[in-house]
Amino acid sequence: MRKPFIAGNWKMNMDSASSVALAAGLAKELENVETVDVAVCPPFVYTQSVSAALSASNIAVGAQDVYFEGKGAFTGEISCDMLKDTGCTYVLAGHSERRHVIGETDELINQKVTAAIDSGLLPILCVGELLEERQAEKTTEVVAEQVKKGLAGLCNERVQAVTIAYEPVWAIGTGLTATPEQAQEVHAMIRGLLAELYDEDIAQTLRIQYGGSAKPGNTAELMAQPDVDGLLVGGASLKVEDFAAMVKTVA
Ligand code: PEP
Repeated sequence: MRKPFIAGNWKMNMDSASSVALAAGLAKELENVETVDVAVCPPFVYTQSVSAALSASNIAVGAQDVYFEGKGAFTGEISCDMLKDTGCTYVLAGHSERRHVIGETDELINQKVTAAIDSGLLPILCVGELLEERQAEKTTEVVAEQVKKGLAGLCNERVQAVTIAYEPVWAIGTGLTATPEQAQEVHAMIRGLLAELYDEDIAQTLRIQYGGSAKPGNTAELMAQPDVDGLLVGGASLKVEDFAAMVKTVA
């Protein structure tokens, strides 16, 4: 039985006061929730203060990105150990905005996933097709390739640290949500692929989140799908009442 996992991606939003206020509000609203794993991913500069605001809660902190090298002359980058030092448990890898705005490749994303696991962080590997790829009926091909390349080199034991987030790019921040059936179809394909790459036990253990305009009004129908184990939430994670409502719906 996979425990549901809801994570909020705050992207490049908030400031020091509002990020702590959001974290404190969530800690209060969700203090009795034990049946769902919850995490928030603030911008790097707020992970420490948000971790402090959540220290007495069961909400974990994640980062939105990481660099794979341990330390050194990598101006502007942040290492896994730095993230852990500021209280992070999770880290996103390969979010579509990093793939398509910043230009990250599957190979770089794989290095990040690998470094995160090596350091004890729990990576959330984000995958998803562009609108034109869906229209060209290439969704399975594109997503399967991203999963294979993102997990390359990980053995059965290490891959268990990973959560996969299926986020169709055309649904992120657009208000368009994949239908529950569209989400389920891709999630089931990913789970089948995990069984091929690893084994059935691992395929049944790994959690696969859906992301793309998830909000309070569509949480129940998305989460009702057998292979949707959680949500990666952007816009709706910036408001205490919306994100808390989503977690409570799942709980
Ligand atoms: C995201 O940032 O991963 C995301 C899914 O954003 P939104 O929920 O706003 O579409």
